[in-house]
Amino acid sequence: MFGNLHWLTTAARQMVVQARLAFASGLLGLLLVFPAALFASDGSADGSLPLTALCHTSTALPAPAHDHDVPGGFFCGGRPEGYQHGSLWLEAGMRAVSGSGRTPVLMVHSSRYDRLLVGFRYADGAMAWQGVRSGDYSGHWRLGGQVGFEAPMRDARLTGVVLRFDRLASAEVLRMRLVRSDVSDLQTIALASLIGAALMLLVIGAIYNFALAVAARRVFPMLQGMWSAVLALWGVIWSQLHLFVLPWMAGTLSSQVDTMLALALLMLTALSLISALEPGKVPRWMNRLAVVLAVMVGLLGLPLGLMRSGAIDQLAMAVAVLFAVLVVVILACLAIAWRRGSTAARAFAGAWLVPLLVMSLTGFFDLGDVLWGGGEQMLVLLSGAWQTIWLSVAATRRFNLMRHERDAALAAEALAQEQARRDSLTGLTNRRGFVERIAPLLRAHADRAQIADGDSTLALLLLDIDQFKTVNDRYGHDVGDHVLVTIGQRLQRWDAPAQVVARLGGEEFAVMVSGMGLFAARALAESMRQAIAACDHGAAIGQNDITVSIGLVMARPGDTFATLYRAADAALYVAKHQGRNRVVIGHTTGTPARAAVLPAQAERG
Ligand code: GH3
Ligand code: MG
Ligand code: MG
Repeated sequence: MFGNLHWLTTAARQMVVQARLAFASGLLGLLLVFPAALFASDGSADGSLPLTALCHTSTALPAPAHDHDVPGGFFCGGRPEGYQHGSLWLEAGMRAVSGSGRTPVLMVHSSRYDRLLVGFRYADGAMAWQGVRSGDYSGHWRLGGQVGFEAPMRDARLTGVVLRFDRLASAEVLRMRLVRSDVSDLQTIALASLIGAALMLLVIGAIYNFALAVAARRVFPMLQGMWSAVLALWGVIWSQLHLFVLPWMAGTLSSQVDTMLALALLMLTALSLISALEPGKVPRWMNRLAVVLAVMVGLLGLPLGLMRSGAIDQLAMAVAVLFAVLVVVILACLAIAWRRGSTAARAFAGAWLVPLLVMSLTGFFDLGDVLWGGGEQMLVLLSGAWQTIWLSVAATRRFNLMRHERDAALAAEALAQEQARRDSLTGLTNRRGFVERIAPLLRAHADRAQIADGDSTLALLLLDIDQFKTVNDRYGHDVGDHVLVTIGQRLQRWDAPAQVVARLGGEEFAVMVSGMGLFAARALAESMRQAIAACDHGAAIGQNDITVSIGLVMARPGDTFATLYRAADAALYVAKHQGRNRVVIGHTTGTPARAAVLPAQAERG
């Protein structure tokens, strides 16, 4: 379990560092560009050509030979009708074109039509025509979802502009502006930087969240990643960035795909938010209602995207209303979860509110050409970037919290492991730790061919304090403990990788010595005996009063801790009987099947 967590946190830590850098640069880009955008967008609003300011008329689709025959009988005022299967003609007169310079640029936001022809009318009666078709915007497309037509420079004054849309799906979503050509160039550059910054943030956000979803195996970052990715895709298509590589998608097809993506996006927004809230914090029926509404909004994207004529405007309004209801339900869910102490609601509310409000507002209000003509779509893109930054930072913070908890758990686990192998009174290794630590020494020794004790280089020493019961009886248990600690500390000095010292229990200690023959091991045992006898136990107990008896055995191939212990214990028994405070050597047969005690006792006897 901890292994998984470890991989997860290392991966996440690396991601966080890189994502932070990327976010910082993206954010900086946005901060630099945003104020300039708002400032500059004032100018662009001037040239705006609202539908109501134009005169209009509808005809059947003209034959190619009569492409440029402007019909008579334009109506000024009111809304155009009956144009979806034919041509819609719009005319901007003197008043609209004055003030936009000698060579203005007509910017038209992309929408669904088969063909758009633009005729610039001059004072000498001449007209200069340009045009685009769905699937072929040639040199007219501009970043930010627009097509631009620059009026040719002529001696005669510009007196008006005529536009002809063939098979236009909806006049309600048309957005047109007449801007000075130098202003138009600057706006396109500025808009491109803003779009670039927002798209970059979204793409990084998507990658970051997908990585987080894989690492943490959670649904929420997955939905969030999908949201960022779909929004980025929508942004690419809306801004027409894709026309660099897919020019044939220009116009209607892009607009249709974008509508479907936009509604899928609204659906993902809701689903992702709902999935972020902890289960149980929101009434189940509200959760379900939000999911059903979200899926309905998402599915309505199909007809709304595919429609080329008919009641598009009515359907768009229905979707806007449905989405507004969804927003209300979601806000209610957020509020309830917040009141019930949901940490997710608190962490994410700020992130969701901005895009939710922007998205629902754009459904009802025409936000015009703010942000260099980028308009409401640009606002959606920016609010999406905002949300992605916020959520990623919030998710990272939660992740960090998880990491701290994991580190603490690991430390506690390590401490528990260590404590389970240590004797609490003396601080020496306990029996369990001893058995674990000597296992490799025994294994290494088992491989060696050896016949007699004299050839062995692995010894077990069993030390038992003499008459310890009397110490307890005479001086009390506390003094007895103190004696155990003093002897433990003295023995600890011999502890080394090849020399394992432990308190096996009570007043019994063990030392396993590797790399020494019988002679050296016996000398070591003797020096231990003397050193313990020389320990200073304080005023109450005189020196040489506390002694130990030691049983020593050399290991033979096949010996285990059990066989060695039995033989050493037998030797210790002999030492006690011989008067204590001495070292006695015992023997093992080396085969665990037969008890080693009997031959050892026989020899001693
Ligand atoms: P012998 O020389 O035969 O080993 O005599 P002994 O008194 O040392 O042996 P015995 O087994 O009769 O007594 C061991 C005593 O050690 C009994 C027990 O109260 C004491 N003891 C065991 N563990 C502790 C401990 O943690 N603290 C203290 N103070 N005494 C302990
Ligand atoms: Mg004992
Ligand atoms: Mg004893």
